[in-house]
Amino acid sequence: STPNIVLNVNGIEVIYNHVILVLKGVSLNVPQGKIAAVLGGNGAGKTTTLRAISNLLKAERGEVTKGSIELRGERIENLTPADLVNRGVVQVMEGRHCFAHLTIEENLLTGSYTRKDKGEIAANLEKVYNYFPRLKTRRTSQAAYTSGGEQQMCAIGRALMTNPSVMLLDEPSMGLAPQIVEEVFEIVKDLNTKEKVTFLLAEQNTNMALRYADYGYIMESGRIVMDGAAEDLRNNEDVKEFYLGMG
Ligand code: ATP
Repeated sequence: STPNIVLNVNGIEVIYNHVILVLKGVSLNVPQGKIAAVLGGNGAGKTTTLRAISNLLKAERGEVTKGSIELRGERIENLTPADLVNRGVVQVMEGRHCFAHLTIEENLLTGSYTRKDKGEIAANLEKVYNYFPRLKTRRTSQAAYTSGGEQQMCAIGRALMTNPSVMLLDEPSMGLAPQIVEEVFEIVKDLNTKEKVTFLLAEQNTNMALRYADYGYIMESGRIVMDGAAEDLRNNEDVKEFYLGMG
């Protein structure tokens, strides 16, 4: 039987500034409870794909001009990012975007702005600290003075505070030492297994992503040029030659 599809992106085109065609018909599916990865080099269109799904293109003067995006069979192109968070879809942006002047804990609490129940917020915070013990020890530190890895964890932790069912994770490995990348991916896997969070991640680090993802989509110049089960991609000669050295 085919698994339930949570996210379905069907033939989308994205244009920036009314003229620059960046996505040239991208289609992908993210099955319930899985980790899917969008892979490829700099400028391939990975970030644009994630931003199209979470409706964050407007700030970049981008728009979806063709195709459709569905969440569990429902069109979502006209929902705001906040609507999407309420429906369980949250994006962790590239470059982490923690508030530098806030403490780690204050940053995490910004993720619970949609909720009022103090007990629930406290329970969520405990859940985040349970997955990210490093954040607990750094809870009173200003984000600006924490490491890149801790800031990435903080960004994921903040997204986790919204109780997501789907997390869009843009380039979690960026700028991190290999050992820290591994630590972050282990936590992603844990959240996937234990919290049943479905992931769509964008990664230049093909090697690492294919070790943790179930399925991969390889992008080049705004198109998906290859896709398959992570294991098949890892063993594919073209993938080995052109992508596995990256990241
Ligand atoms: P990276 O890893 O560098 O983020 P990416 O695969 O995520 O790469 P995108 O950021 O989606 O790629 O960029 C795809 C293409 O769109 C690039 O050619 C980029 O220059 C272009 N682009 C991105 N943002 C804009 C923008 N706001 N206006 C015009 N062009 C843009």
